[in-house]
Amino acid sequence: MPDTPRPSKRRRPTPPAPAPAPAPAPIPPRPHLRADCQNCFALCCAALPFTASADFPVTKPAGTPCKNLRTDHRCGIHDRLRDTGWRGCTVFDCFGAGQQISQITFGGRDWREDPDTRREMFDAFPVMRILHELLWYLTEALAQPAARRLHPDLRATLGQVEELTRADAATLTTADPHPLRARTGELLRQVSELVRAAHTPGRRKNHRGADLMGARLAGTDLRGADLRGAYLIAADLQGCDLRTADLLGSDLRDADLRGADLTGALFLTQAQVNAARGDTTTHIPPALDRPSHWQPPA
Ligand code: SF4
Repeated sequence: MPDTPRPSKRRRPTPPAPAPAPAPAPIPPRPHLRADCQNCFALCCAALPFTASADFPVTKPAGTPCKNLRTDHRCGIHDRLRDTGWRGCTVFDCFGAGQQISQITFGGRDWREDPDTRREMFDAFPVMRILHELLWYLTEALAQPAARRLHPDLRATLGQVEELTRADAATLTTADPHPLRARTGELLRQVSELVRAAHTPGRRKNHRGADLMGARLAGTDLRGADLRGAYLIAADLQGCDLRTADLLGSDLRDADLRGADLTGALFLTQAQVNAARGDTTTHIPPALDRPSHWQPPA
């Protein structure tokens, strides 16, 4: 019986390699949304509460000045914060809300010299912080060309937030910023989808809200990953590629970022970077500062 000719296995032509994704838009520096302690009446040290924990050695109620706060609004243990259990102070960032309340809302009136302002100023500060955080994210979103179709909505929301930041103290203390926060959150979700699709074609990892505490992810390609709200506490992220990963609200406390690349990561904040571990081999967006407590490479 003659051999039945086998159907020839034609190799499919190799598809052309996808064009390299365009570089993500540089994140704007936003200096007005960064803490300017020189122009603030130490509101984070007086207005906000904290609880005894790994970040603070004592509990302090809202509206009570910290015992380490000097009368000139400087911290009495500034150079020893991390060594003496006040790590939380080195992580916090007010997004510029402190100077806005101190110099604009209250026109430079110091709560120590003008005690009548104290209660209202301390109540207005947390609201302003939420608003400034929204401005931080919205400004970044507006710098993304891939999300151009959302720019009108982003601008409108930004305008509403900015308008509220200019309100007087009484309006601020009774304002509910949560509808604006919800609106912003939804817009940022859409921006994230568009930007990550544009810059990281193909499958993108979805770890939204995932429990990745202590996860061993060293060297993982996390470009374009959705890490929004993920718990990355003490995760090993050494050498990870996190460009265009969405890090909005992810908990990076003690995450090891040595050798990791976070340039172009979406919605990253100074507080998240401050809370993580890194060194000079960690690549962070130029809009953020390298924490002074990060170690040089071993
Ligand atoms: S320890 Fe220093 S930085 Fe921390 S809350 Fe007290 S005064 Fe402020």
